[in-house]
Amino acid sequence: MLILEKIYENVKKYPDTKVMISDGESITYKELWEKSGKLANWIIKNYGNKKNPVVVYGHKDILMLVCFIALVRTGRAYCPVDINMPLERINQIIEAVDNEFLFTTEEIEGVNDNFKKISKDEINEIINGNEEAELDPALMCKDEETYYIIFTSGSTGKPKGVEISHGALSRFTDWSEKIADLNKENKVFLNQAPFSFDLSVMDVYTALACGGTFYCLTKKIQKDMASLLEAIKEGNINFWVSTPSFADMCLADKSFNEDLMPKGEAFLFCGEKLTKETASKLMERFPKMKVVNTYGPTESTVAITEVIITKEMLEDEKELPIGRVKPGTEVKLSPEKELLIYGDTLSNGYFRNEEKTKEAFFIDENGERGYHTGDEGFFVDDMLYYRGRIDLQIKLHGYRIELGDIEANIMEQDGILQTAVLPKYENGKVRYLVAFVVTEDGQGNFAKSKEIKTKLKERLPEYMVPKKIVYREGLPMTPNGKTDRKKLEELL
Ligand code: AMP
Repeated sequence: MLILEKIYENVKKYPDTKVMISDGESITYKELWEKSGKLANWIIKNYGNKKNPVVVYGHKDILMLVCFIALVRTGRAYCPVDINMPLERINQIIEAVDNEFLFTTEEIEGVNDNFKKISKDEINEIINGNEEAELDPALMCKDEETYYIIFTSGSTGKPKGVEISHGALSRFTDWSEKIADLNKENKVFLNQAPFSFDLSVMDVYTALACGGTFYCLTKKIQKDMASLLEAIKEGNINFWVSTPSFADMCLADKSFNEDLMPKGEAFLFCGEKLTKETASKLMERFPKMKVVNTYGPTESTVAITEVIITKEMLEDEKELPIGRVKPGTEVKLSPEKELLIYGDTLSNGYFRNEEKTKEAFFIDENGERGYHTGDEGFFVDDMLYYRGRIDLQIKLHGYRIELGDIEANIMEQDGILQTAVLPKYENGKVRYLVAFVVTEDGQGNFAKSKEIKTKLKERLPEYMVPKKIVYREGLPMTPNGKTDRKKLEELL
């Protein structure tokens, strides 16, 4: 069954259950269906029966979910863009999606005027007005049609839009409902990640598939430890979904323990390496909860492996495993030990970007379609372990970053001759980024660093701006003329 059909079943089964809670507001299944139906009818009336995707800009407002569901009910994909994106990136995405309109649930200035912005007030007017709420179910996205597009960092300085089909998402939730073998019917899921990060799909859509609730931690709440802990307690959470980095941040506070989640059943992690330190601390402080590691790229719909971490794994000399591969997916190892993903949750490719799609997706000698993850790993029986990246993509606090993306944006600035951005690792995880920079005039000082960072902030999300800038007269070279990153690493 497709996820939208499942959501509709839950609307009938649990009409008054809250589907989303955020910032003191909430919406029930019945309200979600009615309001998204009204908005869908309005979209069709004003923009016709088209299939082109639409940007939905904002943070964790209830209206975001209403827009997502309304769009897919009209057969259009949605493309979530979070407030953590700077204006230039937002414009790049809006221009790449190139639809005549977009929804903005938060205020935003400076967006390209060629596109009509439908504001929060307008959306509210439509969904609380007299528009028809019934909609022809035949209009919704088909199995193979794109359901959402999530933009990720691209190595050349422009983000790439990963297209996920309705079928792929549905096959993902068929599996995510069963993760850790726990019953998820009517349970509460913690939402930490912004909707523009596909980790959020794990909590949002597993909740929607199970007639459950997802409980959002907004950016503002996440910034203040006292309100964060209070919000976690108030949430009555059963399933915690976050990056390991976020759990680390919470663990830094002693009061982060099982008193905050008396009904907690499991921590579901994805998006970056789960360390033994994080897992063992959680197991100590939350003895009744399971700690589950999952792994996967956006290009294969959030996650494709799962494993419940045991005490034995913590004592094993190896790092923690990333899990067993889900049914419907296969992982093969290339001769270079790169993980190649095949199966029923693969993306159809990058939105209107044939070149990047051809680079990352391939048809093998048996005629099967696969995806190059860029991750290196190995199997012990059917258990998969992660080793690291074979390219210049990294994860910082769970965010996926192509170092080349930052470098391209530094090179665009005046007076820069060369640059290389490197991650500084501590305990196997990236702690911060360092940019080595060669300037035309050979100068570099505090003011110059400030200027570079300020300009980067206009173009990149804040988490992509290097913390340190180191000036050099030149960058070391390998014998074949590439920047010698190993030599630079030694300088960190
Ligand atoms: P994203 O598309 O943002 O989910 O990023 C996907 C990448 O994050 C993968 O290709 C891995 O490099 C990394 N990743 C995801 N999950 C894990 C995990 N459990 N352990 C280690 N790395 C992970």
